[in-house]
Amino acid sequence: MVLKWTNRGANPVPASKPAPMPVAAPGIDTTPEVVYDGAPLKPASEVFKSYGKHIFTGKLAEYFLKKNGGSLAMFEDSTWVKDRTKADIIAAAILDWAVAHGAITYCHWFQPMGSAGVRHGQTGQVYDQMLKFDSKTYELKYDFDGGDLVKGETDGSSYPNGGLRATHTAGGYLAIDCSSPIFLRGDTIFIPSIFVSYYGMALDEKTPVLRANDALSNQGKRLLSKLGLETTGLKANIGLEQEIFLIPRDQYYRRPDLQFTGRTIMGKYAPRDQEMCDHYMAPLSNASPALNCMKEIQKECWKMGIPLKTRHREVAPNQYEFAPLFGTNTGQIDQNLIVMQVIEEIAAKHGLAALLQEKPFDGINGSGKHNNWSISTLEEVQLFVPKAINAACGSHSAFPVIMAAVVAAVDTHGDLMRMAIASPGNDFRLGACEAPPAIITTYLGDDMTNYLEAFMNGEDKEYTPNTRTIDVGISGVEAFTVPAEDRNRTSPFPYGGARFEFRAVGSSQNVSMVNTVLNAMCAEKFGEFADKIEAGEEPVAVARAALKEHWKVIFNGNGYDLGNQQMLTDKGCWRIDSGVEAMSVITADKNVALFEKLGVMTAVECKARQDVMHEHYTGTVVMEAATMIDMINQHVIPSLHAAGGEDEALPKAVETLKHALEEIEECEEQEAQAKLARVLRLETMVELRKLCDAAEAVVPSHLWTLATYKELLFLDSHTHGPGA
Ligand code: ADP
Ligand code: MG
Repeated sequence: MVLKWTNRGANPVPASKPAPMPVAAPGIDTTPEVVYDGAPLKPASEVFKSYGKHIFTGKLAEYFLKKNGGSLAMFEDSTWVKDRTKADIIAAAILDWAVAHGAITYCHWFQPMGSAGVRHGQTGQVYDQMLKFDSKTYELKYDFDGGDLVKGETDGSSYPNGGLRATHTAGGYLAIDCSSPIFLRGDTIFIPSIFVSYYGMALDEKTPVLRANDALSNQGKRLLSKLGLETTGLKANIGLEQEIFLIPRDQYYRRPDLQFTGRTIMGKYAPRDQEMCDHYMAPLSNASPALNCMKEIQKECWKMGIPLKTRHREVAPNQYEFAPLFGTNTGQIDQNLIVMQVIEEIAAKHGLAALLQEKPFDGINGSGKHNNWSISTLEEVQLFVPKAINAACGSHSAFPVIMAAVVAAVDTHGDLMRMAIASPGNDFRLGACEAPPAIITTYLGDDMTNYLEAFMNGEDKEYTPNTRTIDVGISGVEAFTVPAEDRNRTSPFPYGGARFEFRAVGSSQNVSMVNTVLNAMCAEKFGEFADKIEAGEEPVAVARAALKEHWKVIFNGNGYDLGNQQMLTDKGCWRIDSGVEAMSVITADKNVALFEKLGVMTAVECKARQDVMHEHYTGTVVMEAATMIDMINQHVIPSLHAAGGEDEALPKAVETLKHALEEIEECEEQEAQAKLARVLRLETMVELRKLCDAAEAVVPSHLWTLATYKELLFLDSHTHGPGA
């Protein structure tokens, strides 16, 4: 196909509609050739050629499946895993695809608990060759069958397991998760898998979210049927905005704290940071390596079919963001893990270090991962789009009933939402100037709130989102329309028309638990509504009663305002300031009952997860404190001495830290340990940091041996050009 670009100028406009995305199968190059005034140009050919080549889905999968006697329909119906004949055909197609790309290795790719911030890529994998070695004839043959594809095995005791596996009962089993696509990177095929114990207990992040998806689908199907819509099932869609920092790698090596813990545990503020709001959406400078780095990250991800659509600079110096197009939650979660891994790897190639931690620098913004979340039927009817769901149900009260269920879920299980975002890095981020507070409420906007209030009080009409027209009074700028609702960046869970945006999620997190909670809490309310309707109540009456009971959780004001925070606390909205205490709520009776009832987690699995979260927290703090001791002894004190200064408080600080670490070690219970660790981190270390920063302020720069905030941030002014 030839696309002709006829216009002259820097931004040629295609004369005809662009060609559809070509199917990339080996030997078939469908790249559209672009002719610009007679001269062939291929501006986007690389992307068109390689996009999605490394993900086994759609037409690409169909090509190899057909070649091997199968079909796409057979592959897309997950029951093939139980049919050995079909599994063998699919394995043959995957082997064929792999070999076409020079890959002869495969692994089951799984997500152990407690991985954020410490395990590169946050996943586990053992690589096997798709080869048979004949010991008699010394022949080598390709070898990969259905059995290899559907199941794997590993040692369950060597990953954080919260006591679910001991060294003498160590079995851990891996089974393919058909909801997330198989992908290829380098010489390896990655098979997304769940990871469970010999007794089927979840040892990973993925298993609970898959179970919660089933619960959401089953209960949602029931409720929709009562509202007039028969559907084959429901799914949750998410889009994960990933914020990161990129810093010069040579300076990173001059910071033991960044290397070991991902954040600076000391460091005097630079004279300039984000006070001029000059970084947000600023151009990615051609003179710094960040632009080329981000381009290469996108390119690498596109090959694996990861639709990283947006890239831009964020609020803090050296802070950046990628956002993909949204999709089914398990696929998106898996792709986000790959994105984080790719970011770290490609950054190193460009002389940069990527920081995924939530608060790498004090005094400037931290990083989040907004979890944009919506629910749709498998037939793609969006539940949070008023017009769509009302039309599909044939009733204008379908939408308010669904919204009432979500509002009720947030109010009932705000504690679980808080638990799900309790990552060590979020300790420093929540409630600060750039992130929503640890009080869980939802912003619906005045328009929607007024509608729901009228509905709750008996009004019966359709919700039609209002729009506003902005006319700026310039002849060359046409008046344009905007939604009635403004944005509220202070809310942890604002509704944005079609989706809710869980903004409080931390940047380094595997968001499986976040989505397990969102789906489970909605599944429960959908189920409760369906029960009541089955028992004879009117859907509208059920929704009105729920709104009356849970109205307090709707809050449209400024969440950063302390007066508002007190008001919400007094009203009884969920507020858990301490991350360590938030982790503990997973085993509260109400929450165990929720998870058990829906088949998401047993009480034993909840307790194991709580222990892993606490251990992960304590481990993080222990590493931070030990690093601080080294930094004071090996850098701060010697630098101060070299400058002719002394501060007796510094050796004392080291003693204080050592004592606190001993106390943690002597404590045997995970939750109590984590509580001690929290005090050490948020009180003791914050105080001791002041001594270090005061020393940095007076030591001449050539005698200060740690990289400073000035050297770590401001790529724009401090790097030597691309690849520096
Ligand atoms: P914002 O700056 O408003 O947060 P972005 O464009 O940076 O918006 O990111 C929005 C994210 O939300 C994208 O990943 C997008 O694909 C995702 N998204 C949009 N609509 C939906 C939806 N209905 N369900 C889930 N995610 C969605
Ligand atoms: Mg966002």
